[in-house]
Amino acid sequence: MGVSYSRYIIPRDNGWRPSEDQLKALVQAWQEAGYMPKDGLLPRFKTDAHEQEYQIKKRDREAELAAKNPIARWLAKRAERGKRPQFRAQLVPIEGFVCGDLEPIISSTGAIVIWSVNDYLKLGTKYPLDMLPDPAWRPSYEISISLSDDYQYVDATDGTGNGLNTICKCGAELSYHPEEILDAETRVRRVCAKCATAFRPQDQLVDLFDGFTGATYAVPGGICFRFAICIDCGREIPHESNGEAPREAKAAKLFLETCRNALSTDLYDVGYWS
Ligand SMILES: [Zn+2]
Repeated sequence: MGVSYSRYIIPRDNGWRPSEDQLKALVQAWQEAGYMPKDGLLPRFKTDAHEQEYQIKKRDREAELAAKNPIARWLAKRAERGKRPQFRAQLVPIEGFVCGDLEPIISSTGAIVIWSVNDYLKLGTKYPLDMLPDPAWRPSYEISISLSDDYQYVDATDGTGNGLNTICKCGAELSYHPEEILDAETRVRRVCAKCATAFRPQDQLVDLFDGFTGATYAVPGGICFRFAICIDCGREIPHESNGEAPREAKAAKLFLETCRNALSTDLYDVGYWS
């Protein structure tokens, strides 16, 4: 099939970011509410700096090879034509998120922290969405926290709907996508370098796509954030039980409340199909 489903939980004020203490409180609240085991599940992270270092090393290695070998030169040229770099930096494990030093994450221009919840039934944790995937597949998912200085924008339209307009009122294009940033789709400048106007995604209606009904619906801000929680179900997509009409799984009420209380900010959740 190749279809996978993620649910993003995003602050209503799309420019909002948590403090280090709020991040720790969030993860502690997940543990206390049973969404994450207290021990034995180490998160892994990477930052833009990891990605930059990796991409520079990769380019140097390729240049060295290309100088010696015409086939390597040809392969490097072909790889350049692709939109995305083929290989990315590895994730690094973090010991003790709740009591550790999160400075490298907080101070980065972009960072992602991922908890891979393999077989949540075996781990005995609560599923964070309001419908469940098929238990026979020993369901797994990833919970991640993304943080960035500029906005990250995930375009959920198939090119026909209203995506986010990233052109400032002065005409400057605010979006960019160098290779050396994390896997996010696109970054959008928080403040215009030309006229100093702050970008406000919440002032725009952005189309999203419901994979079950095929309908599009508009949400202020769409999937644009400087901080987001993402539940990536992969192909183990939650679905309705007997008799219910097919619909997208949303964040479970208790999970959303747990996040809201820990962060003291209002949140909304939206689906993303890829
Ligand atoms: Zn401007």
